[in-house]
Amino acid sequence: MRTQYLAATQEAIAHAAKLIQDGQVVGFPTETVYGLGANALSDSAVRAIFAAKERPADNPLIVHIAEFEEMAPLCEINDRARRLADAFWPGPLTMILPKKAIVPQVVTAGLDSVAVRMPSHPVARALIRQSGLPIAAPSANRSGRPSPTLAQHVLEDMDGRIPLILDGGACDVGVESTVVSLLGEVATVLRPGGITPEMIAAVLGQAMVADSVMRPLKEGEAAPSPGMKHKHYAPRAHMTLYEGKREHVAARICREYDENGGHALILAGTGNLPLYGSRCCYDLGPDAASAAHRLFAALRTADERQVLRVYSEAFPEEGVGLAVMNRMARAAGFDIVRV
Ligand code: AMP
Ligand code: MG
Repeated sequence: MRTQYLAATQEAIAHAAKLIQDGQVVGFPTETVYGLGANALSDSAVRAIFAAKERPADNPLIVHIAEFEEMAPLCEINDRARRLADAFWPGPLTMILPKKAIVPQVVTAGLDSVAVRMPSHPVARALIRQSGLPIAAPSANRSGRPSPTLAQHVLEDMDGRIPLILDGGACDVGVESTVVSLLGEVATVLRPGGITPEMIAAVLGQAMVADSVMRPLKEGEAAPSPGMKHKHYAPRAHMTLYEGKREHVAARICREYDENGGHALILAGTGNLPLYGSRCCYDLGPDAASAAHRLFAALRTADERQVLRVYSEAFPEEGVGLAVMNRMARAAGFDIVRV
């Protein structure tokens, strides 16, 4: 299959919407990461997403809508969902609610619940509106690879596998949406993202964070969010995270880097770059929000340079730092060193 790569003009979006109506899969930008979208109500279209991504069939997809009214046919809405939608939609928040029959089993990987999100990116919204359909879309990477934050990343992973990629520039947030389950008594964050647990608690009065967010699942443990049990976001190189005082972290990373003969990439905050001298660094920016924005591109850069090791500074697990650390810890296979 030839993959068309088009700037996301009105014309290109109209073409993409037609492809979606035809049951095809399209790469498109959202404010979180690039998505791989298809008609969420079509069994075969959704299967084509899983095939293009080589995604395990037990990992459910998020259904994207453009207007709040489009939610009711898909799931059982409750009062908390309404309040969160009022506060954060359109935006990087996905809600898990009991599914209705119209949503095919293949979307939810057989679960009774469905994940729904209203993205804010104008291209994503136009695509959903013009197709007239809810769009099921996971991140547009091949399974196990870092999520794409540029259309170029989608091309790297999907060339020849899908008919069209819409280029809408760099994604704003850079990590996937916050996933919050509204199935239980208390709203529970299953995957941290741009909307923080603190922000959710401010609206609902309380919110929990699933404890598997910052630790690996135990042998045989059921994953509250199936995506958590799969290896994720990993660069090909072995990655290690270092936690502690910044001078100590930098000294330790420099030592490891030099002992490994320099075939490595260091991920560091802008303010810490001088601590690494002339060693090869990727600038994660001045704060956790910019680290979220740059992390996946950093991991792809490590792959391109074919380094053997990635050494990264850790971030405080607060605000959007929790999302950064959740992705980093998984990319590192939970190889986290306290110094
Ligand atoms: P991605 O499509 O790559 O953004 O991943 C979607 C995330 O949402 C994965 O971690 C899924 O496991 C999670 N997810 C989707 N649907 C559900 C659901 N019904 N219950 C729990 N987690 C879900
Ligand atoms: Mg993904």
